[in-house]
Amino acid sequence: MKTCVIIGGGLGGLVTGALLSKEGYKVTVLEKNLIIGGGLQNFNRHGYSFPTGMHIFGGFEEGGNLRKLFDYLGVLDQLSLQATDDDASDVIRIEEDGAVYRMPRGKDQCIAYLSTCFPVEKENIKAYIDKLYELTEKMDMFCLRESKPYEMMYIDEDFVVPFDEMMDRYIINPKLKGLLTYLCPLYSGMKGTTPTFMAALLTVIHFNGTFQFVGGSQQLANALKKVIEKAGGQVLVRSEVERIIVEDHQVKGVVTKNGNIYQAENYISDVHPDVLLRIIDEGAFPKLFKNRISLVSDSLSFLVVFVKFKDKSFPFLNQVNYFFQSYEKGLDFSHEQQEDWPKGIVYLTPPVEHQGEFAETMVFVVPMEYEWVKPWENTRTGRRGEDYEQWKQIMMDKVLDRIERLYPDYRERIEFCFASTPLTIRDYYGNRSGSCYGFQKDCSNLMLSQMSVFTKVKNLYLTGQNVNIHGLCGVSLTAIQTAEALVGLNTIMHKINEKYDHTA
Ligand SMILES: Cc1cc2nc3c(=O)[nH]c(=O)nc-3n(C[C@H](O)[C@H](O)[C@H](O)COP(=O)(O)OP(=O)(O)OC[C@H]3O[C@@H](n4cnc5c(N)ncnc54)[C@H](O)[C@@H]3O)c2cc1C
Repeated sequence: MKTCVIIGGGLGGLVTGALLSKEGYKVTVLEKNLIIGGGLQNFNRHGYSFPTGMHIFGGFEEGGNLRKLFDYLGVLDQLSLQATDDDASDVIRIEEDGAVYRMPRGKDQCIAYLSTCFPVEKENIKAYIDKLYELTEKMDMFCLRESKPYEMMYIDEDFVVPFDEMMDRYIINPKLKGLLTYLCPLYSGMKGTTPTFMAALLTVIHFNGTFQFVGGSQQLANALKKVIEKAGGQVLVRSEVERIIVEDHQVKGVVTKNGNIYQAENYISDVHPDVLLRIIDEGAFPKLFKNRISLVSDSLSFLVVFVKFKDKSFPFLNQVNYFFQSYEKGLDFSHEQQEDWPKGIVYLTPPVEHQGEFAETMVFVVPMEYEWVKPWENTRTGRRGEDYEQWKQIMMDKVLDRIERLYPDYRERIEFCFASTPLTIRDYYGNRSGSCYGFQKDCSNLMLSQMSVFTKVKNLYLTGQNVNIHGLCGVSLTAIQTAEALVGLNTIMHKINEKYDHTA
């Protein structure tokens, strides 16, 4: 059997491992944490389950890219998914004028709805949304089309126009512009920096219809693990790789913290490239590459507030909710000031099995600068000190104060709540700045924030959110590229489509 060792048991490592397992590889996935999944992991607090980094995603509609991929991998039937509401899949509230916008499911429905809210801009809305769809349709990877040899996300010049500039070409009303940026927290959208293709992807994913895992995304990690094990592979936890041995431009083996050595013909890294550079033997990569990694900025981080409600005290919301101070502030979450924070909050009530009319828990995802937690950056979880705990409580209160403006007796309904900060995210994922989506995409230098799946080390490949795009969609589709780097361009893509066409 052909063999492969994968460093990191997050979404990228597990999907790549499952794809290779189906190609006859014996795969060993090495994960540093106690539980596999990275961002897919669910954790328990006082007997209740909370998600770490996978709340909402698309691609599971009929003919959707992820539906096809996970069907091919044989895990679709094991996933318990719930579609968000047809008539209000995303609900956006703007404090400035008290407006509430309920985005429906479906491109035409979204265009019609926005046109009702901003009738004067009817034609502009259609032209702008058509443009975003047109851009995503050019992406072979997104459309699961067989492609030419390794393709970066630069397809035509409109891809790399800053998303706000692209919007200016079509939309006039400033309120509409602000509203159309409501997805910025989900892709770290930054004015003048983030390329249009990121806005296009997220908009198309959300307009086509989003889904949530019922009972958490751990189920996907577990299902992928089974695919790897069924093919004779293994997924090992508490196996932090601390050295990658390189000789003659080839990886010879990896050493874990507990002293085990794993060897294979091929190796794949699903960890942040900065981590990779720390653990790989000196000289494996040229200095230029190291400099490049140190130059790339990371995407947004978050304060995440987790709430467990008292019994039957808060309704279940089958949608993603966005609450912005103003239209203008929906646009950009960089350079926030603590006094004015938070500009915007994303919140949802994750569905549980036999979900009834009341929610069990709620999660608030609130963009936050890593700079703010720097005073404690040399501390570890549970030992960050009293001042950190006090600061965290103040920030959590700011979020709850803001949300009480929407739901006046909100605090009364809480049984318990707690928060994680950019430092929690940094330490849990093992990345350098608590970044949630990997490298910040920057249209002034896209090459800097995108990586090839191939490396200078002959038998070492990359996967995960830093290669192309983050999220369930971006990471899973990148995994196809990584697996194909080993087994041949378009081989897997062809099989995925063949299986779908056959089933259809
Ligand atoms: C708070 C938050 C909310 C999010 N919400 C969404 C959402 O709603 N929808 C969506 O699509 N995406 C969301 N994302 C993004 C999504 O979670 C990520 O894009 C995705 O999970 C990244 O997968 P990955 O495999 O690239 O990386 P990771 O999940 O980070 O996996 C890397 C793995 O490598 C392990 N590791 C690190 N160092 C080592 C080492 N030395 N040895 C062994 N193992 C190691 C880590 O423990 C981790 O398990 C969110 C992210 C965050 C943080």
